[in-house]
Amino acid sequence: MTAQLNPHGDVAVLVPAAGSGVRLGPGVPKALRMLAGEPLLVHAIRRVAAAASVRLIVVAAPAAEIDAVRALLAPVAPVVVVAGGAERQQSVAAALAAVPDDVDIVLVHDAARALTPPELVESVAAAVRGGLPAAIPVLPVVDTVKEVGPDDRVLGTVDRTVLRSVQTPQGFRHDVLATAHATASDPLTDDAGLVEKAGIVVTCVPGSEFALKITRPLDLVLAEALLGVR
Ligand code: C5P
Repeated sequence: MTAQLNPHGDVAVLVPAAGSGVRLGPGVPKALRMLAGEPLLVHAIRRVAAAASVRLIVVAAPAAEIDAVRALLAPVAPVVVVAGGAERQQSVAAALAAVPDDVDIVLVHDAARALTPPELVESVAAAVRGGLPAAIPVLPVVDTVKEVGPDDRVLGTVDRTVLRSVQTPQGFRHDVLATAHATASDPLTDDAGLVEKAGIVVTCVPGSEFALKITRPLDLVLAEALLGVR
C-alpha cells in the first residue's frame, strides 16, 4: 500500500541514488541490492515515508533510470524522482532544487542505511526544528583506533572518546544546506562536511544501531536478522 506523506510536514528527505553502478537488475548496485526480496532503496523509502513530519521525498536517480526508479517506488510512497549528477554532491544539489522554499528542514539520507527507523528521521528533524542549523546522528566508536604509517607501523593510539561514527539522515535548516551547496568548491562525501566548511556549527544527536550501512555481505546477514526484530 502506498504511504501517505504529511502535507503539513516541515521536512523534505533527499536520497541520492544516482551512482554510476545504480541500475535495475540482479547483482548490481548498492541502493538496489536485495534484502528479504526487496531493494534496499524500497526498505529505506518505506521507513522515511513512515516518519510523521516528512512532507516530501526526493530521490536522485541516474537519468536513464528515472522511469524505472519511479515505477519501483510508486507502490511504496509518493516520491519525486530527479536526474542525479556526475558527483554525489551534484545529485544532492539536484534533489535539493526540487524542494519548495516553504519546507524548513532538509534531511540527506543514504539508501544503504535501509533499516533506519522513522524515529531516527524524526529525532534528527526535531533537533533542527529545535534550533540547530545542522544535526547528525552518531554512535560512539567502540574499537580501539590506531594511527598507522608505512609498513603497518603503529604511530599512535587515537583517543576514541572524541570520535563518533556518523550515520544518516543528516539534518539541516533548508537555507543552511542550500548556502553550503551554493558555495561548495570541492566535492565531499558528506553534506555535514560542506556545512562545517562554511563555518556552521554541526551538532551530534544519538544514532541507532538499526541505521547501519548495509554494504558488506555480513551487513546483509545482520540486516535480515534485524528485519525480524522490527
Ligand atoms: O559511490 P558512493 O558510495 O560515494 O555513493 C554514495 C551514494 O551517493 C550512493 O547512494 C550513490 O548512488 C549516490 N551517488 C549519487 N550520484 C553520484 C554518485 C553517487 O547520487 N553521481
